[in-house]
Amino acid sequence: MAGWRRIRLGAIPALVALALSGRASAADGRHRYTVTVAKDLNRLQVRACFTEPAPGVLVAHSHRIPKDMAGLRVVAGGGPLPSPQTGQRRIRVPDEVECLAYSVDLAAAARRSLHAEVQQVPGGLVASPRQWLWFPYRRGRRQDLDLTFRLPAGVRAAGPWPTAGSEGTTYRLGQRPYRWPTRVAIGRFPERVLEVGGARIRVSMLRGSPEVDRPGLLDWIREGAQALTRVYGRFPVPRAHILVVPVARGGEPVPWGEVQRGGGEAVHLYIDQRRPLSEFRSDWTLAHELSHLLHPATDYDAPWLYEGLASYYQNVIRARSGQLTAEQAWRKLHRGFRRGRRNTDPDQTLAQVAQAMEGHPDYMRVYWSGAALFLRADWQLRAEEDGTRSLDTVLEGLARCCLPSRRRWDPDELLRRLDSLADRPVFTELGQRYAPATAFPDLTRVYARLGLWAQGQELRLIDRAPETDLRRSIMAGPGKRRRGNGPPAHRKRSVP
Ligand SMILES: [Zn+2]
Repeated sequence: MAGWRRIRLGAIPALVALALSGRASAADGRHRYTVTVAKDLNRLQVRACFTEPAPGVLVAHSHRIPKDMAGLRVVAGGGPLPSPQTGQRRIRVPDEVECLAYSVDLAAAARRSLHAEVQQVPGGLVASPRQWLWFPYRRGRRQDLDLTFRLPAGVRAAGPWPTAGSEGTTYRLGQRPYRWPTRVAIGRFPERVLEVGGARIRVSMLRGSPEVDRPGLLDWIREGAQALTRVYGRFPVPRAHILVVPVARGGEPVPWGEVQRGGGEAVHLYIDQRRPLSEFRSDWTLAHELSHLLHPATDYDAPWLYEGLASYYQNVIRARSGQLTAEQAWRKLHRGFRRGRRNTDPDQTLAQVAQAMEGHPDYMRVYWSGAALFLRADWQLRAEEDGTRSLDTVLEGLARCCLPSRRRWDPDELLRRLDSLADRPVFTELGQRYAPATAFPDLTRVYARLGLWAQGQELRLIDRAPETDLRRSIMAGPGKRRRGNGPPAHRKRSVP
């Protein structure tokens, strides 16, 4: 604890104060938070100690915190600290406050939680830090903090942030906006680190009831991560957290999956651990969520862009890694396009349904229109004479310039960046054509050139088509471009 406390400056003149102040000893200027977890995991004690420059205010990024917290008080230094009222999201912190403390009733928060912000599961809980942290800001800018967990024996706290030191119980916060969503798992569960494609992937798998088949599911996750490296030979970001929460319901292996980027890239998978491993292996959700790591966080008003990219690659990477045959992958894309086309209301543009997608039944159109855009862009790039470009090479460029990204991108900016990486305006042009359209993107010419012969939901691959090689190269991946009419290469599916 020594060295954490802000050095009191008293009446030292300002210039001297700057020279003598704690900024040297607290050179990193990071505030120090300690979170002590109760043995029964039902309660947290938060102690927040501030270095120079002091935060002017603490901000809650959830209106629920004041409801579930108690005993907010100054524990070092001085100054009045009014208790926040229910719904209050800001506390002004007088400069004299060196440390403050409060507790949070997680069990109550879990009972009140509407959208699983705090969720108790067998052997632990999963909670959004926005439900128990007051974040430091000074003059409207977030400040960095180190968050140290003090845990009961055998308990782990797994979050997406980078860790300080080798102990792994102190996390460094502040690189991403605090309002961005994320989750922390606290409980008794083992953890594994996978090294895949140059990335360090931390896998936290909660225990669940019944208990999960840990080795089998870990293999499934490793194979999923390896499949993603088949886009351009490496994992898109150097670090990621995969959180697996077994909920024993849903009737499918992964009833819910999502990517969250607060604190770092994280994939959260809510699984029905009662399903057999074979179902996990043939499910698309993991490939879809991992494919979202190919792009930066993007504004929510053009979901066709990022959902389209993930929907396209969820099939492409599974074919490249041998989880699907090329024919199966094309068939899945084709059926997706059909679902999107059937879901297209000719009275509305894609942009209109995309804006209202939340809770809206038109999401099939949104996802698969976007996937159609990326198939078309990939085809256009690959069909060029020199044959050096593809969607893969463009995304590799995106990773090189821009990932991981600490800000949210405007969709038009992302399209323009993809254009500049492709050296031609292919993405912006397709976006400008499809977003205001009332019809589903027309893929007739792409199908004909690639040798995709469709009848209803059936699809056959025609090897005499003008661009059969190009079709094969899409599902074979980098370094696997084939010539001639032989069948495409597939790796054998690995067996656990
Ligand atoms: Zn998605």
